[in-house]
Amino acid sequence: MIEMPNPHIRLLDGDTINQIAAGEVVERPASIVKELIENAIDAKATTITVEISSNRKEVTRIRIIDDGCGIPTEEVSLAFSPHATSKIQTAEDLNTCRTLGFRGEALASIAAIAYVTMVTRSKGEDAGTHLIISGGEILENRATGAPTGTTLTVEEIFFTTPARRKFLKSLATELSRISSVIEVFSLLYPELTFRYLLNGQEKSTSHGTRTLGEVLRALRPDEAAQMIQVSGEENGISLEGYISHPELIRQNTQRILVAVNGRMIVSSRISGAIRSGYGTLIPSHSFPVAVLKINLDPARVDANIHPTKREIRISDEPEFLRFIVTRVKEALQGQDLSHSGISIK
Ligand code: ADP
Ligand code: MG
Repeated sequence: MIEMPNPHIRLLDGDTINQIAAGEVVERPASIVKELIENAIDAKATTITVEISSNRKEVTRIRIIDDGCGIPTEEVSLAFSPHATSKIQTAEDLNTCRTLGFRGEALASIAAIAYVTMVTRSKGEDAGTHLIISGGEILENRATGAPTGTTLTVEEIFFTTPARRKFLKSLATELSRISSVIEVFSLLYPELTFRYLLNGQEKSTSHGTRTLGEVLRALRPDEAAQMIQVSGEENGISLEGYISHPELIRQNTQRILVAVNGRMIVSSRISGAIRSGYGTLIPSHSFPVAVLKINLDPARVDANIHPTKREIRISDEPEFLRFIVTRVKEALQGQDLSHSGISIK
């Protein structure tokens, strides 16, 4: 405990830097699940299994199993170094980068605050690697037999940062955040299979090779019945998804799911644009339900604003927002809304 301002300026040591950085990426167990699913998707996995274990109070283990490309033996320990990534080489590459990761922070951050075991085998290599890293320190690194792909097990979550651990919500809340992360990825990547097991029991499976509409019907059957398809393409921006009938509204934007280039983002301006498309069809201060997947040239998207990449910046944003408003309006106009007693002007 330092009571007086310290007059000496010093560089922080590597461990301390990692712990501070980890705090930004890994807020809670669900953020670990998000980062690891993103890595599996970037590794071109087709099946991603999320196994969660808990005791009565907290999540005790997170395990993500993927059948993606795996990591070559000589690169496994490097993958856990801060700023180590295979996804970009220069800042310029961000203009063409289509992967969900690029900052090279997730594995280093998770390994800084937990006890992590990775078993991975790269396609084309005969043997895999078994690596244990805890509090940023590699404890074991040896060859092992393994299927192609990667299994990452995270235990003793936040053991190095007890303060963070104290601020976690109830087990039920943390688990519901985890299942909503899995639900979001199932909707955004309907072509992939997601399995979710809690304490060994299957909670949900979203079988791949489906469409967004099919996953929506499977996951949210009540809502899906009141959803209207929306799609469009213009000036290199494409959009597909579902928006709700004006009778299905919410008081906030929580049921608006927007993904840009496969990444879920939070944007009050995009939610506002979707809302604008409804005009007077819905009361002011209310919002529709929506799932929108938008794709555009990565050069127009700056995802490098926040460590969790939840926020993005889009160049020519007014044009982009107008496009969304127009498509939402058009989708609603194509509907027979007469039974709701409201007409679209
Ligand atoms: P980023 O995803 O930003 O590159 P990470 O710390 O999440 O950073 O991962 C570091 C590197 O480890 C990745 O660039 C990738 O090469 C490798 N990696 C991580 N997870 C996986 C995985 N599940 N399958 C294959 N490679 C992985
Ligand atoms: Mg990553």
